[in-house]
Amino acid sequence: MSEQVQARAADEDAVEAARRRAADADLVVVKAGTNSLTDDDSRLDREKLDKLVDDIMDLRERGKDVLLVSSGSIGAGSGRIGKDGDTIEETQALSTVGQSLLMAQYTESFERYDQKIAQLLLTEHDLDNPERFTNLQNTVRTLLDWGIVPVINENDAVATEEVRIGDNDMLSSSVAIGVDADLLVTLTDVGGVYTGNPKHDDDAERIEAVAQNYDEVQQLITDTAEAKFGGIRTKVERARAAAEHDIPAIIARSTEPSVLEKIATAKPVGTLFVPVNGDSDE
Ligand code: GLU
Repeated sequence: MSEQVQARAADEDAVEAARRRAADADLVVVKAGTNSLTDDDSRLDREKLDKLVDDIMDLRERGKDVLLVSSGSIGAGSGRIGKDGDTIEETQALSTVGQSLLMAQYTESFERYDQKIAQLLLTEHDLDNPERFTNLQNTVRTLLDWGIVPVINENDAVATEEVRIGDNDMLSSSVAIGVDADLLVTLTDVGGVYTGNPKHDDDAERIEAVAQNYDEVQQLITDTAEAKFGGIRTKVERARAAAEHDIPAIIARSTEPSVLEKIATAKPVGTLFVPVNGDSDE
């Protein structure tokens, strides 16, 4: 199965061209998940956060604009208060505690580079409503013109839908499409998309690129992923949505050394979703 999937990957030229486009991207959306920012006790892990900031600054120093979509507010809040959210209300409240901590840590960490940041808390409605969305685009554009890195999270305190892991995979991909980014990078605790579940299956192989083989890859994920929503399944669906809007997307491991620099120098890392032109109405 795995050989089949790998063999039917996009032809090498298309993969190489997409890798080049990813490297040359001027506007990059980077999504970092809770595991990439917190320790086993779900407290914010400053070393992990600094590593992410170092990676982002690699891109900034190459003259790129970066939008960071960061999870971690609920995890940080639960580490801070010392309890899990037993109800939606508690989870929402935890997110508000954690979000300010998260931003305080980001502010300090980016300060090492004299880099200013901004906080944007969004809900799905802000993306769906044309007027709100135009306002958002204008704000983002202004921040980028000022050389600021916007840090985006879902506004969990007021989100009327269930607060759930995976929402930021949706949000980051919608933001990338909405601001017409040149690249979406999803950083997570696995090294990309695998032919099996790498947490349990030693023979699982990383799939280097996804293009014409998308249906097979999606089938594999459906068969092996643990969660229906969130996890690799949602990441794959949303990376594909970006690729269908002509935006290359990469899913990679957040702990990979200099992961964003590798992408910016066209090194093969994680799983690359090759843009497929205009066959989506999402
Ligand atoms: N917005 C949530 C948080 O910051 C996480 C949502 C997600 O991981 O997709 O904790």
